[in-house]
Amino acid sequence: MVDAAPILRMVNLTKQFGRLVAVNDVSLDIQEGEFFTIVGPSGSGKTTLLRMLGGLEKPTAGDIILRGERVNAVPANRRPTCMVFQSLALFNHKSVGQNIEFSLKMRGESRRVRRERGLSLMNVVQLPEDFYDKSVTKCSGGERQRVALARALASDPEILFFDEPLSAIDYRLRKLLEVELKDLHRTTGKTFVYITHSLEEAMVMSDRIGIMQEGRLIQIGSPNEIYLQPRNKFVSEFMGEVNTFAVRAGADGGIDCPHFERRFTSPARPDGFSDGYLVIRPESMRFLNDASEAENHLEGSLFNEYALGSRVQYHVSAGGMMFVVEKLREQAYRGAPNDDVMIGWDAKDSVLVAD
Ligand code: ATP
Repeated sequence: MVDAAPILRMVNLTKQFGRLVAVNDVSLDIQEGEFFTIVGPSGSGKTTLLRMLGGLEKPTAGDIILRGERVNAVPANRRPTCMVFQSLALFNHKSVGQNIEFSLKMRGESRRVRRERGLSLMNVVQLPEDFYDKSVTKCSGGERQRVALARALASDPEILFFDEPLSAIDYRLRKLLEVELKDLHRTTGKTFVYITHSLEEAMVMSDRIGIMQEGRLIQIGSPNEIYLQPRNKFVSEFMGEVNTFAVRAGADGGIDCPHFERRFTSPARPDGFSDGYLVIRPESMRFLNDASEAENHLEGSLFNEYALGSRVQYHVSAGGMMFVVEKLREQAYRGAPNDDVMIGWDAKDSVLVAD
């Protein structure tokens, strides 16, 4: 996939609003058929980037290349792309069918062709046929979501842009729709570019993820790469709870941790690493009976435990820091708050990141 000519190319793309640089020198290639998600906290520039790609905002500098052609000045309705917004932007006075068929009507398709295509798209997004004449105002959040998707697909765009379409939907339905979106991506074979502030959502659906921070794209990789090799502390912490503490490169290949006045065994060091953070995921932390059971250990006391369904999470206080340990329920630690515990990890299960 990576070797083919990209369907969409961003070259040093920048957008300024007055003195504020919302998108800062972003370069990125997206491959045909890829599900690419841009993740970042609020205000990091995701929407602005997507709006430039969709033709709703003009870049201050840089280029947007679509199938080899520069499209900076091509208006949204002349690009072979379509945007699905968080607000969905449905026509509330129209029925489900009329919403879906809107672009076909604009193209002058006959009523018969529109209805046929509309019903087939309803099938693709799993809306029952008898919704065809239903008013969209009488649809639930999830159903409206499907209408918006079918409407976007109706214009047969080459790329679909999604601006946080699931963020207003409750957790259970969102999980279901994430899977359905990924399946829809597979069945349509289209290129999806998606933005969200939820890395969890991005992980489930995407082929690749780009992390944005303050207008810059700071890391690009597969969900696994981002999860296992976060480039810096920001990315590692953005992914949920992690154990992180400041370290510096020590003699004999170890890493020194001033806070614990200890030397730990070091995972692979990034080139030129001198100081930064050691990151250990909760699931990589273990309870030990004896210090010899892991390469590194800390003594502490159990603060509390939290049942998460299939997993159990523990907070362990050690050396003035609170550590998070997570186990599968069947491997749960049997103990009580204030128990003296020993926790540990092996270097291979930790990662060193820059500031
Ligand atoms: P969110 O997740 O909250 O939607 P975001 O990552 O999508 O955030 P953007 O909406 O792209 O971020 O905003 C990036 C920065 O640009 C913010 O500081 C925002 O206030 C600013 N900004 C966005 N649009 C405009 C505008 N039209 N005029 C001035 N500033 C803007």
